[in-house]
Amino acid sequence: MPKKDLADTNTFTRKPRSGWEMLKGKEPRVEAYCREYLSFLSEVKTEREAVSYLVERAARAKGLHMVGNRGKAVAFCRPGKAALSEGVRIVVAHLDSPRLDLKANPVYEDTELVMLKTHYYGGIRKYQWLARPLALHGVVVKEDGSIIRIVLGEDENEPCFTIEDLLPHLAGKAQYGKKIEDVFQGEKLNLICGSRPDLNAKEDKVKRQILALLNEKYGIVEEDFTSADLEVVPSGKAREIGFDRSLIGAYGQDDRICAWAAFSAVCDAVKPSHATVALLVDKEEIGSEGNTGAKSVFLEEVLWSFSEALKLDVNPSRVLFRSRALSGDVNGALDPEFPEVHEKANAARLGYGICITKFTGSRGKAGSSEAHAEYMGWIRSLLNRSGVPWQTGELGKVDEGGGGTVAKHLAEYGMDIVDAGPALLSMHAPFEISSKVDAYATYLAYRAFMEEA
Ligand code: MN
Ligand code: MN
Repeated sequence: MPKKDLADTNTFTRKPRSGWEMLKGKEPRVEAYCREYLSFLSEVKTEREAVSYLVERAARAKGLHMVGNRGKAVAFCRPGKAALSEGVRIVVAHLDSPRLDLKANPVYEDTELVMLKTHYYGGIRKYQWLARPLALHGVVVKEDGSIIRIVLGEDENEPCFTIEDLLPHLAGKAQYGKKIEDVFQGEKLNLICGSRPDLNAKEDKVKRQILALLNEKYGIVEEDFTSADLEVVPSGKAREIGFDRSLIGAYGQDDRICAWAAFSAVCDAVKPSHATVALLVDKEEIGSEGNTGAKSVFLEEVLWSFSEALKLDVNPSRVLFRSRALSGDVNGALDPEFPEVHEKANAARLGYGICITKFTGSRGKAGSSEAHAEYMGWIRSLLNRSGVPWQTGELGKVDEGGGGTVAKHLAEYGMDIVDAGPALLSMHAPFEISSKVDAYATYLAYRAFMEEA
C-alpha cells in the first residue's frame, strides 16, 4: 500500500462524493436500470403483486432456485463457487408498504354515501391519505375457496376511490389549534365508494345498490369481506421528478427500491463466490411478525429447499451462522425543509449513493443489532474496490426518534448483517422521493456483495 503523501492533508479527510460524479459516463446504465424500476413500481402496489411480478420475471433469468411463501414472501437463490456449508450471502428486503386495509365488516351507508371502513397498516401520516385518488388492490376468498383478484382505480378509464377532508371554511373549531393526532383520526379514514340509490329499496338504498354491483362484477357477497386481503393504496404510476428527471416519485419505494435491487442483482450475478439469496419478506412495517415476516422460519425453509435442490445435506442453522447479509432498507435523507431533525455530519444525502447504517434503534441504539467494526471494514473495502457510491447515515439526531429494520431478526441466526439501502425524502408518504443514482448504486452494491464477497 503506498503511503499517503504527508504534504497533501486532503487525502486524510473523508469527503462524501456525489454518486453523479462517481458514475459519470454511466448515465445510460442508470437510466436503463431506473426505467425498469419505474415500471415495477407502477405495476406493483402490494406484497402479493410484487411476488407475482418477480416470479414471472425470474423465469427469464437462468439458474435461479425459487422458494415462495403464501404468495407474500419469496426467495431467489443462486449457487456459488464455495460449498453451501461455508455460508451464503443474503440480501433481505421487504415487499410490504404502509397503506390502509379494509376491515372485516367494511361496508356502511351514511348521508347517502356508501363507505368502506379501513384500518391503517404501518406508520402513516393520516392527513396524506385524504382528498386524493386511491385504488383498491387485493384478493377476496369465497366460501368455496375460490380466489377473486381485485385491482380497481389505477387505469384512468376506471373509477377510483377517495377519503374526504373537511373544508377550510369550517375547520376552525374542529381542527385548527388542536394537536395533529387529535385532528386526523384513524377511524375517520373511510373510503367513499358510491352514492347512486337503488330506487326500489326501502332502506340502505345505496348500500344495496353497491352490494348488487359487487355481486354482478365479482360474484361476491358482504360476508366475503371477512375473508379478504384488500389494500387501499395511492392511485397512479411512478413518475420522474424535476426538470432534469433526476429523482423518482412513487408509492412503495420503502422498500421496493431495495427489493428490486436485490432481485436484479441475484438475476444478474455472475459466478458468485458464495451461494446467494435475495430474500423478500412481508410484514416489516408492522414488526416483521407472522409466517411471512422476517421473524418467521421462512429463511430456514429456503435453505432446506435450496440444499435439497443442490442434492446436498446441510444444517440450515450452521450455514446461517457462517453467512453474511445486507439488510436492504431505506434511510431518511437529509431534509431541506426540516434540517433540524438531522445531525448533518451523519445524515444520508440524496444522490450520494447507498447508505450504510451501522445501527438503527432509538433511545441509545435500543432495538438495534449494530454491525461490528470488522464487518463495516469488510463492506467498506468491498464498496470502495467496486467503485460503488456509498455513504453512511443515522436516522435523525440522537433522541430525535428512530426506527428499526429486519436486520436484528436475521442477526439472531449468528450471521453478520448491516443495513444498506438508499435514502428517501417523504418516507412512508403516498409519494416517496428517491434519487436515480442512489437506486442504481444500491443495485451495484448488492451485486458486488453477491459476486465478490
Ligand atoms: Mn422499510
Ligand atoms: Mn418503512
